[in-house]
Amino acid sequence: MSLRVAFDIDGVLADFRTAFQDAANEAGIGGRAEVVAASPVDPLSSREIKEIWAHVKRSNNWWTRLRAYEPHQLVRLYELTRRHKWEVVFMTRRPSTDGDPVQFQTQWWIEQHGFYYPAVVTVPGSRGELANALRLDVIVDDQLLNCVDVVGGSTAKALLLLRDGHDRATEDHAISRGIGVVKTLEEAIDVISHMHESLGERRGRLQRLSDWFGGSKSDGAALPPPPDRGRAKLR
Ligand SMILES: [Mg+2]
Repeated sequence: MSLRVAFDIDGVLADFRTAFQDAANEAGIGGRAEVVAASPVDPLSSREIKEIWAHVKRSNNWWTRLRAYEPHQLVRLYELTRRHKWEVVFMTRRPSTDGDPVQFQTQWWIEQHGFYYPAVVTVPGSRGELANALRLDVIVDDQLLNCVDVVGGSTAKALLLLRDGHDRATEDHAISRGIGVVKTLEEAIDVISHMHESLGERRGRLQRLSDWFGGSKSDGAALPPPPDRGRAKLR
């Protein structure tokens, strides 16, 4: 049985914060929005936030514009997924924008960064229920609440990605609830690789016994890499 892994997208793979800042600038609310990054207190009024979101929703395929935090890690994740036969799901609650559906924009973006045939679920609501329904082993998310929801509502492990790294209170809170804390996507993938290896060790003896009694069987050849179909065109 292979590991079943899920990744949240914004804050984990994609730099939503900078893109939202850019959208605020384009909507003429940039000066105020800059304070958001510097201060934990949100200085924007709900009306201003609504205006920025309205601008985002009017922008064609806005979700394809985001920068990847660690683009090489998506390539690495794809290689590890193929090698270890993991099942990977990308989860998001992104709202729709003009252009293609959120799911397609997100799949397109992930493929552009080197992870082919990405499974993207655009499900609002509880991450715990989703982790349970998808029988996930581990999820990576940048929101403590989502991680708490997952460890409370399923048997999956959760890894909280805190990029800023100085949020000691959140880190302590997460650790006290059995949630792992990492600072980069690279570190999250390292942890998942270790989980994979320790799973192999634990199952090693049983695996050898089943090999012994099951006769010889080939591993089965892997499918070829994705065809070079060039860059998919968005409308
Ligand atoms: Mg997120």
